Formats: sequence, structure tokens, C-alpha cells
Amino acid sequence: MKDSVTNWHDRAKQITIDGRAVIDGKRVHAKDGSTFECFSPVDNRKLVDVASGKAADIDLAVSAARAAFNDRRWAGLSPRERKQTMIRFSDLLIQNKEELALLETLDMGKPITASLNVDVNSAANSLRWFGEAIDKVYDEIAPTADHTLAMITREPLGVVGAIVPWNYPILMACWKIAPALASGNSVVLKPSEKSPLTALRLGDLALEAGIPRGVLNVVPGFGPDAGTPLAMHMDVDCIAFTGSTGVGKKIQVMAGQSNLKRAWCELGGKSPNIVFADCPDMDRAAAASAGSIFYNQGESCNAPSRLLVERSIKDEFVKKLLQHLPEYQPGDPLDASTTMGAMVDCGQMENVLKYIASGKQQGARLRAGGEQARSETGGFYVNPTVFDEVTNDMTIASEEIFGPVLSIITFDTQEEAIRIANDTPYGLAAAVWTRDISRAHLVARALRAGTVHVNSYDEDDITVPFGGYKQSGNGRDKSLHALEKYTELKTTWIRLG
Ligand code: NAD
Repeated sequence: MKDSVTNWHDRAKQITIDGRAVIDGKRVHAKDGSTFECFSPVDNRKLVDVASGKAADIDLAVSAARAAFNDRRWAGLSPRERKQTMIRFSDLLIQNKEELALLETLDMGKPITASLNVDVNSAANSLRWFGEAIDKVYDEIAPTADHTLAMITREPLGVVGAIVPWNYPILMACWKIAPALASGNSVVLKPSEKSPLTALRLGDLALEAGIPRGVLNVVPGFGPDAGTPLAMHMDVDCIAFTGSTGVGKKIQVMAGQSNLKRAWCELGGKSPNIVFADCPDMDRAAAASAGSIFYNQGESCNAPSRLLVERSIKDEFVKKLLQHLPEYQPGDPLDASTTMGAMVDCGQMENVLKYIASGKQQGARLRAGGEQARSETGGFYVNPTVFDEVTNDMTIASEEIFGPVLSIITFDTQEEAIRIANDTPYGLAAAVWTRDISRAHLVARALRAGTVHVNSYDEDDITVPFGGYKQSGNGRDKSLHALEKYTELKTTWIRLG
């Protein structure tokens, strides 16, 4: 059926959802039988009761993962065999694409077209890409003395705990599990309590693809109930975390307080998007600036939430940018033509509205939006919001809002732009728009960010690393570099002769 004619509301009425955990190859209730209610931010309808995982469930999942790792039912396969299974897993995501997209939209509120064409496709691509890569990665021989052979090999770590957020639920899960599984680890995945449904289906589809039981376990639950026991677990070798900087700091402490497991953290951002007066294409820059902050309701870690514009073009640029706002009015997430959906829940909507109130109170000039929308639906929507005359010390410019709120800051010189851009605890992404190639390189070098775009904002590919400087984290997802997080380096010395 074509996306445009699929009646997603009818499909939503018919969908059956299983909220139980996936542990050791089976769907199971939480050990203590407890559940939490999962509501849709689309209209606040209840979707399902989800198993509320606790320490006992995490223990079971970690034991299953450890047993699977120790008997090498997955780690012991040849890379080529793991590759074939990962590709089957990826194919199953595509075969079940409509169901997965519907679950993602109902659970998290993003537009169905984005779930279908971006999130599920990219998640499947991640599984396929790491699967395909794994039988093409070679180890090393060190250039040592003639009478020795020193082999440097990579081995899987063992049991990986993956804790992921709610903004791109299936994609963030796959950015972790794809390289972790491809390199032979077993995984315990803890999805966000706000969007656990597609992760649970990943657990089923992995089994269907032939990934042996116990290799991928999925335990839903709240952060302190299920995430903390996973991060504190003495038999987990690595925590791969994506989420807020505040929780990321706790994860690092938990790793240190337990078994010093590797703790990789992909955290928040407050990314600057710098437009110089010699920007080569103001129309494209305005479209990209609006599109990148309002896509996914502004709930993107790398969203360019600070727009730095050179004073001489500021008025003209802002006018162009505001012309794009009608393209991002919140609509029914189950309508294929909608471009902006619901905030993930009432709490997140209220948070965003509080930030908007603080912007007004601290003297920023509200140019558009600023209110809740579609309240008659029972769901949680916020209009695309633009503040002008913002200074970098205002709360809306210094804290991550994680909503459709753009702060425009004016600058006069290149040095000032760089100083403001770097004046943040975060360092996830940045952009610079200029036709001067020297300036492009100099500014890109000076920006303390894991990704810098020049004359674009939305380039993306599984082949490039993604992650942050400073308090945006310490690891990299995507690309071959991600394999470094899930493997241990071993040196084997052999004396010859
Ligand atoms: P969050 O930190 O509240 O939660 C993330 C995960 O951690 C969830 O699964 C949650 O249940 C769990 N958790 C919460 N408290 C915990 C605790 N005490 N112990 C163990 N686990 C705990 O983040 P969120 O609100 O789900 O996601 C939004 C954040 O994620 C934003 O800051 C965003 O920038 C960031 N993010 C970063 C990236 C990246 O690649 N850098 C990608 C997406 C999102």
C-alpha cells in the first residue's frame, strides 16, 4: 500500500501491542508482575501496559546475555555468519516497516512519514551496514623485532548494556546494538520508559532473524529502576548510553562505583549555526536553519537551537526564516502530510512552555509561536517558536530545551561569533555559512564540536562518526569508529625460533 493512502488511524485501532520484556528468547512479564501504562502523545490514548523492569529483571537479562556470550553461540560464529544474520535482521525491519513506523509514531508522537521514511529505514540501514562491515575489518601485526610476532586483535567485550532515549527510539537503539552485535557481544537494551514499543519489537525480530536467544534482551522500565541496576551491574562490561548530560554524569559515576565498566555517553547539545554576511545562498540557509531546528519537533540532540547571524544581514535573514514556519505547523502525526507532530509527553510540553516563558521574561523578542497547539486533541503540541534579540546568557540560549524553540543571536565579527558559539558546556554539532573558503576552515577548526557543517546543516550518513566534545559526551556512534566502543584490544606476543 502506498504511504499516502494508508489509513493510519484504522491501522492504529487494529494494532496489537505486546508490552512484555524480551529475556533469554522469550516474552516475559516483569518478575514482580508490575507494569506501567504507556500513553500516546498523539491524543493521550492508552496504548498498552508495559512490563516495569527492575533489578531482578536486569539480573535475569544479564545472566542470559552472559550465558550466551560464554558458550559463544553468537561470538563464536564467523564474522560472515554474523553478517548474514544481521542482514536478515535488517530485512525484517523493512518487511515490518509499517508496523514499526506506526508504533513509533503512536508511542513518541513524530509524524508517520518521518517514522516510515527516516527512522525505520535508518535503523535497518544501521543493522545492515555494521553487518556488512564486520567481515571486512582486519586486525594488525605490530612492526616488532625479527624474532617476535606481536598480533594486535580486537575481541568483543562481552555483555553490553545499552540505555537509550525517546527522541529517535528505534534508531538510537540500532546505533548501539548494530555495532555491538556485529562484533559478537551480547546486549541488554533498556529503552526509554516514554517510548519502549519499537525496541521490544526489535527483540522479537532479532530472534526471528536467527540471532540466538539471550544475545539481545530488551528490558523496559524507568531509569532509576532498570537503568541504574544495569549501569551498576558487576557482570556488565560496557554501558552504551544516549540521553541527557545530567544522567550521563550519573552513568559515569555508576561505572566507577561498580566494576569500572566502559561507559560511553552520547549526550545533549545546544548547537550553534553561524550565518555570515557572505553566506552563499541565504534562501537555502534559511530553509536549512528552520528545517533542522523544527524537524522531529525540535527533539533532536544536534538541533541548531542557537542561530548566530551577522548583524548586517540579520533582518533580511530572519524574514526569510520566518517564511518557512507555515511548513512546520503541528498536525495529526498519523496524517501522511504532517511535518511536525506531538511532543513526547505532557511533561516535555510543559518544560518547553516553561522555557518559552523564561525567554519572554528575560527580554528576548518573540517573533513566532510560543504557545501550545491542538489542545482539543488531548495530545501535546507546541507551535514552532522563534525568539530574536537573544543574548547567550539567557536561559533559552544556554540550556537544552529539546523542543521547537529557536534563539537568534546577532554578532559583528568572526571572533565574536566563535566566542559565542563555543560559550556553552556542550559540543555536539555546529554549522558555518560563508563563501570564503579560508574562513570556513578557520571557523570549523575553532568550533569545539564533534560535527561541523559548512554551508549545510542536514548532511548525514552511517559512514561518519556522530558524537560530541565537552559535555556532549565521550563516544562516537555510527561509522567503523563505533566498533572501538564494543571491542577490547588484545596484544599477543609470540617468540619465534
Ligand atoms: P534521559 O537522560 O532522561 O534518559 C535517557 C535514558 O536513561 C532513558 O532510557 C532513561 O530511562 C534512562 N535513565 C534516566 N535516569 C536514569 C538513571 N538514574 N540511571 C540509569 N538510567 C537512567 O534523556 P531523554 O530525556 O530520554 O533524552 C533526551 C536527551 O538525550 C537529550 O539531552 C538529547 O540531547 C540526548 N540525546 C543525545 C543524542 C546523541 O547522540 N548525543 C541522541 C539523542 C538524544
